[in-house]
Amino acid sequence: MNKFLILVVEDDPPVRNLIATTLKAHDYRYLTADTGEGAVMEAASHAPDVILLDLGLPDMDGVEVIRRVRGWSNVPIIVISARSEDADKIAALDAGADDYLTKPFSVDELLARLRVTQRRLALMGGDESASVYENGALRIDFAAGCAYLDGEELHLTAIEYKLLCLLARNTGKVLTHKFITQGVWGSSWDNDVASLRVYMATLRKKLEAAPGAPQYIQTHIGIGYRMIKVE
Ligand code: CA
Repeated sequence: MNKFLILVVEDDPPVRNLIATTLKAHDYRYLTADTGEGAVMEAASHAPDVILLDLGLPDMDGVEVIRRVRGWSNVPIIVISARSEDADKIAALDAGADDYLTKPFSVDELLARLRVTQRRLALMGGDESASVYENGALRIDFAAGCAYLDGEELHLTAIEYKLLCLLARNTGKVLTHKFITQGVWGSSWDNDVASLRVYMATLRKKLEAAPGAPQYIQTHIGIGYRMIKVE
C-alpha cells in the first residue's frame, strides 16, 4: 500500500478523473480540488505529500496557489499545464513549484514524476543540514568544501563548486536559470545565463562520464537544470 497522499487540483473533469483513476490503480491516496481557493484549503487542512496542480483554474492562476501554499509549506508541487510556453513553467518554478508536466501527458510520465518526487522526499527525509551529500558515485563534503567522484577529489573552480552544491541541495527539483544565477552570482542578467552555460559545460566535463549523455545533471531546454538522484 502506497501511503502517499496526493492533492489533485484540476478543474477539467475528464483530466481530473484520469489522474484520480491512475492514482487509485497505483495505490496512492488522493484528494481533489477544482478551484484555487479549494486547493489552498485542502492543502492546509490535509497536509498532502504532493500537490499536482493545473495552472489554468477558474478562480485564480495556479501560480498564485503556489505562492500561497509556499507561505507555510514546502510540499512538492508538480505543475500540470496545457500551456506549453516556457514563460509559464518558469513563473511556476520561480514561485516554488518543483517540477512540471505539459498536457497532454502520458499516465506513465505522471507516475514517473511521482516516483522522482518520492525519491527526493526520501533523500531529504534525512537531515537537511547534513554536512555530507551522497548521490551515486558523487560525494560532497560541505564542511570541507570538497567534492569527490568515486573517491577521487574533483578539481572544481569556486563557481563550479557553488553550482554543484546548489544543484545537489535541490536534488530532484527543476531549478530555473534565474534561480541558479541568483544563487551563484547574486544576479540574473542575460549574460549570467550565458556564463552559466559555460560553467555547466566545464562542470559536466569533470562530473559526467559522458557529458553528452549526463547522468547527474539534466538540462531543461529554455528553462534550467535538475540534479537527478542516481539509482
Ligand atoms: Ca484548467
